[in-house]
Amino acid sequence: ALTAGIVGLPNVGKSTLFNAITNAQVEAANYPFATIDPNVGVVEVPDYRLDKLTEMIEPKKTVPTTFEFTDIAGLVRGASRGEGLGNKFLGNIRETDAICEVVRCFRDKDVTHVDGDVDPIRDIETINLELIMADLETVEKRIGRLEKKAKSGDKEAKAEMSVLEKLKPTLEANKPARSIEFDKEEMLIVKQYTLLTMKPLIYVANLGEEDLEDPMQNPYYVQVLEFAKEEGSDVVPICAKIEAELVGMDKEEKAMFMQDLGIEESGLDKLIKEAYSLLGLRTYFTAGVQEVRAWTFKEGMTAPEMAGIIHSDFQRGFIKAETYSFDDLVKYGSEHALKEAGKIRQEGKQYVGQDGDIMLFKFNV
Ligand code: GDP
Repeated sequence: ALTAGIVGLPNVGKSTLFNAITNAQVEAANYPFATIDPNVGVVEVPDYRLDKLTEMIEPKKTVPTTFEFTDIAGLVRGASRGEGLGNKFLGNIRETDAICEVVRCFRDKDVTHVDGDVDPIRDIETINLELIMADLETVEKRIGRLEKKAKSGDKEAKAEMSVLEKLKPTLEANKPARSIEFDKEEMLIVKQYTLLTMKPLIYVANLGEEDLEDPMQNPYYVQVLEFAKEEGSDVVPICAKIEAELVGMDKEEKAMFMQDLGIEESGLDKLIKEAYSLLGLRTYFTAGVQEVRAWTFKEGMTAPEMAGIIHSDFQRGFIKAETYSFDDLVKYGSEHALKEAGKIRQEGKQYVGQDGDIMLFKFNV
């Protein structure tokens, strides 16, 4: 499964947010893979379409799809120089697929800041610099190893060298690797390095509870928005403290509390959705009276690959998929009406899945 790592300086609210995530964690009964690694939290992906399907079909059971967060505590200034347990944490980030960077925007004089005062841009620059320095080390090492070979005229080494020579000055200028435009072949080379600053990034602006109704009133939040915009990154506003309270509530309590706060969607739900789409993840459904279920697939997957997510046998013996879109189902009202209207398609091995597809796989065993 893909995972988004939660990083940030000490005392910005990471643990509070991660506690909310682990308390929202799915039940292991439905998800046997959701094991007990204390640094991993597996949450349901909120999806109104699943609720609607459940309402229409009234199945015995509804199973949402899931998304995984990993807690990466302990990133501090100096990590890339190996200070503290720095290198270990940078290594943990390397294993994630996306980065959620928690930035403190809440004001609370009882909570000390490691650098004295609240300054989200300074914090972002501190963290990003550590990631950039770690990448620069990777790049320089690789250059050292390749230089001779490239000079001797080795074609592959030269191609790789030209990529490294794009990366180095960018990183030296304190810019992330993801800010560089690479063509397809260059991208294949870059991917091998698993650079930290190539990973997609979301800033999680941790606001005070008083800011939730109108985050723009918080000047720190506005600063983060502007910084992220410049970079082309997204920002999710959240109040970690409130999220920790929300996960403990039942549905009605939660709805009332959110109404009091003046918010329509919990910050955690927003973050899950944002991270999901940042990673190019899409959802398809299987829908029957026994079970309505959401499944995660990657953008661009074909029907047999989508079938393989349920079971490798489905992929191996794939014959075809009967499929229709969620929107069509809502429009026509029932599967029967869809059939009458000729809206149920028979798709073969080449079919590329679309978000919101409802699939029934036919396969040989
Ligand atoms: P971490 O070191 O980044 O994991 O930070 P913690 O989650 O331990 O939070 C540090 C302190 O900030 C704790 O005392 C939290 O209660 C407090 N805190 C976290 N989020 C919020 C928030 O949204 N509002 C306020 N007022 N305090 C918060």
